[in-house]
Amino acid sequence: MSTLRLFVYSGLLAILITGTAFAGGYQRTEDGTTRVWNENPKAGDLVTWSGARDAKGYATGLGTVTWFTPQNEVETGSGVAAWLRHIGRQQHYIVTSRESGIMVQGKFEHGPANAEPKKKGRTAPGLVVIHSHGHGDHTAGDKQFRDMPNVQFVAATPAAVQKAAGISRWPDDSGTIDLGGRMIDVIPIPGHNDSSIALYDRVTGNLLTGDSLYPGRLGVSLTDVPTFAASAARLAEFARTHEVAHVLGTHIEQSRTPFLDYPRGTVYQPNEHALELTRAHVIELNDAFLRMKDKPMTVALPEFTIVVRSPQPTKKSSN
Ligand SMILES: [Zn+2]
Repeated sequence: MSTLRLFVYSGLLAILITGTAFAGGYQRTEDGTTRVWNENPKAGDLVTWSGARDAKGYATGLGTVTWFTPQNEVETGSGVAAWLRHIGRQQHYIVTSRESGIMVQGKFEHGPANAEPKKKGRTAPGLVVIHSHGHGDHTAGDKQFRDMPNVQFVAATPAAVQKAAGISRWPDDSGTIDLGGRMIDVIPIPGHNDSSIALYDRVTGNLLTGDSLYPGRLGVSLTDVPTFAASAARLAEFARTHEVAHVLGTHIEQSRTPFLDYPRGTVYQPNEHALELTRAHVIELNDAFLRMKDKPMTVALPEFTIVVRSPQPTKKSSN
């Protein structure tokens, strides 16, 4: 899968600013270190800047600016991440806008041309290509990215992923990838494949699980069952300690009818299961491996199946 390094936030934007007579002005970031232009200042505005500052303290170069505004305290019981609800001290803040780009003296340069480096020493927003795992149906498009300029291509191998995400011990530790002020956690979960990872987006709470957990048949070689079991435990621990909005895998083979999946090769699935699973399925995956103990076996569950495959020396699994 690939992920755009820089985002312009619109999905999260919940507030429209209506007519105002205030003129713009510079404002210090929340940590007091950097000055950023505020086109439309309002009482309570808070701002953070992920990039550098120049000698005079103005935001400069590539980075992400995030604006927060005070919010009445409303507890809805929704899946809004706790850290978003409690930014600030006593008061609740919500993110009103987030924008990435290149700043000069605390202001974004304007126009699409800014996406390209115009002056020496500036870096344009780039693309990070990283894979859920190394099977052919997930790496077939690599050629078109591998040699592109301004692309950080991470090969689908444990060593490459470990290096790119700064993982100190594979597979026991997690790492991160910075998309420009937006952190993605990288959790090694080998088993389905030796380079399988899960990715967690801290902003949306989405957990991407590749072929290791999706509504369908989760393939694992007999010899890799202990490895997958350890990964399932690690993933369950992660899910217990993080807000998880959706668990998103990379295939759908299950129908909406519990325990009923579509045969391999089906191209028309009129009653297919939704792609998104939940934190409960992460726990269920781990529980299934725990129940196996030392006796690996195929386990059918209402919304996915763990399929234990005997090693096939002549044929390599490509799912
Ligand atoms: Zn696969």
